[in-house]
Amino acid sequence: MILFKKAADLRKWLDDQRQKKNKVGFVPTMGALHKGHLSLIASSEMENLCTVCSIFVNPTQFNDPKDFEKYPVTLEQDISMLEEAGTDVLFLPSVSEMYPEGPKPNMHYELGFLETTLEGKYRPGHFQGVCMVVHRLLDMVQPDNLYLGQKDYQQCMVIGRLVHLIGKQDSIKVNVCPTLRETDGLAMSSRNMRLNEQERKTAVVISQTLSYIKEQLRPGPLSSLLKEAEGRLAAAGYRTDYIEVADAKTLAPVNNWDGRQALVALAAAFLNEVRLIDNMLLT
Ligand code: AMP
Repeated sequence: MILFKKAADLRKWLDDQRQKKNKVGFVPTMGALHKGHLSLIASSEMENLCTVCSIFVNPTQFNDPKDFEKYPVTLEQDISMLEEAGTDVLFLPSVSEMYPEGPKPNMHYELGFLETTLEGKYRPGHFQGVCMVVHRLLDMVQPDNLYLGQKDYQQCMVIGRLVHLIGKQDSIKVNVCPTLRETDGLAMSSRNMRLNEQERKTAVVISQTLSYIKEQLRPGPLSSLLKEAEGRLAAAGYRTDYIEVADAKTLAPVNNWDGRQALVALAAAFLNEVRLIDNMLLT
């Protein structure tokens, strides 16, 4: 695996790959890697001759400075995991490499409703920060294929929108890969490392509650089902930001299901200091 810290060096290497007509797959991450990340690397390796992974804990997407400070960093382990997975390139830029003019917004991305609902509502500015860093990374890597995890359902939609906004929809294919889970159902996440033993046991309730919604879903009003779901999270000790059923394509909230519309259930909730998110396609 080749490690680049400078975008100019990465670009030079990638130009060479493109001259050889080698397809480039790209997996952007914030590190503290787990098997979920490695599944994206594996998908990229199946479809591209060259797989680039980036690790960059992006300061502009953290609306809570404490969350940024406490974001887990396990670089040595990440490097050996990526090497073992056969990753071709690790891009490891510094903050000044990504933001030479400082980590301040220099443009506004028109995300519409996506920015006012769910994560957008509870994490103001988060998706602008995501777009800021992903836009830069896409300019640097210019991949043929981009790999994202369904674990961050709304983020996949935001990045899909970003690719259109920057006019790259014909050159970059966005691939959404399934969420990898622990054996008890908890969605793998870098933030799980911050859970103590007791919290880790409780954490599974978030995916159990989404499964409960999926099992109990019937056409008609959904308010009592959502109330029950909220109650289950609260009883387990979660402080819930949201638990909602939404249109799988638009994320518009659905309170009354016609039995046909494709749906997704999404949740975000705190266990003490740690905020976990998860989602499940219902139909
Ligand atoms: P992160 O480093 O957490 O920002 O995630 C980097 C990429 O990995 C994003 O596209 C995530 O959606 C994806 N990812 C995170 N957790 C999982 C998981 N459990 N299964 C599949 N993909 C994941």
